[in-house]
Amino acid sequence: MTLAIGVDVGGTKVAAGVVDADGRIVAKLKRSTPAASPPQTEQAIADVVTELLASYQVTAIGLGAAGFVDGERATMLFAPNLAWRDEPLKQRVEERLGREVVVENDANASAWAEARFGAARGYRDVMLVAVGTGIGAAIIIGGELYRGRWGMAGEPGHVRVVPDGRLCGCGNRGCWEQYASGSALVAEAREFARRTPEGAIRLLQLGGGTPEGISGPEITRAATEGDPAALRCFQTVGGWLGQGLADLAAVLDPACFVIGGGVSEAGDLLLDPARAAFERALTGRGHRPFAQIAVAELGQDAGIVGAADLAREAGREAAPQARGPQTTAPSSSSFEPPGPGSFMRSTSMAKPATNAATAQNAASPGTDQPAAVATTK
Ligand SMILES: [Zn+2]
Repeated sequence: MTLAIGVDVGGTKVAAGVVDADGRIVAKLKRSTPAASPPQTEQAIADVVTELLASYQVTAIGLGAAGFVDGERATMLFAPNLAWRDEPLKQRVEERLGREVVVENDANASAWAEARFGAARGYRDVMLVAVGTGIGAAIIIGGELYRGRWGMAGEPGHVRVVPDGRLCGCGNRGCWEQYASGSALVAEAREFARRTPEGAIRLLQLGGGTPEGISGPEITRAATEGDPAALRCFQTVGGWLGQGLADLAAVLDPACFVIGGGVSEAGDLLLDPARAAFERALTGRGHRPFAQIAVAELGQDAGIVGAADLAREAGREAAPQARGPQTTAPSSSSFEPPGPGSFMRSTSMAKPATNAATAQNAASPGTDQPAAVATTK
């Protein structure tokens, strides 16, 4: 039994677990994140790992971190909810632990976990869309995470869906996450309660009497009870979600969308309107299969499970070859001349060279039953 440690590093907590080869967590620890201080955050990560290492022998350690990870999977370029700015996270944690760690974006880690062990197991082309305060996402193409040339791929929350629409935290207007996220759901409900209090009696009751008291759990509860105002909020936000998924299908044509994040706990309250809007908006509908739209299965643990499994995977890939420059991606600032196929070349070069081994293990292209993302259950 090979065990690996996965650490989910978010803006509020550091959660670490020992994960077996079947994606099961055998031990788990949680700390609050000293998010304002990179050294303290790194120490908190090292502390939870050290504590787990005292009781378990593991072959690999992976970090799933909330922020932009560079193409070499070593540096946190930026994190909205942590103080990381061009922070060499991999090096800093390795110095503290005296062991190698693998760094991955947290949404990528979650998507990997869902594709290996969760809602998307068996699929090679998967998109995870995490609907929380904002919208996070991760892309798996042909059984491999797609990170983009600079590690920035998978930010559909900031695709503009409404010209001159609602102001987004990113500074632009009309971003998808302003319409299809948990924040959008809450904004929708509060606005409705302000405008039509007589129609929002149950929502206001659950919110303590004021529109400002209404938040996600109250809306979900009211909708579960059948409250028309709350259901209408889910219809609106789910509609935006489904329409955006159709846009993503126009670009990526995945077999399966996994919907995660806090709002996905509402299940079909969100997914039914999303599926309906998706099927209405999909280009070529009637002449192509509809992608599956499924709720994430691993919940809060997905980041831990995915980070651990990716670290184990990286260890397997690296094992046949000597460690060194050949396992390191080219510098993110290196210039690549444009030319035929340069797009595809650049994406594969952004990964460790040892990924060739995985490509050979993968099932033949064109099937949707992977080897690399095969279920072990
Ligand atoms: Zn935005």
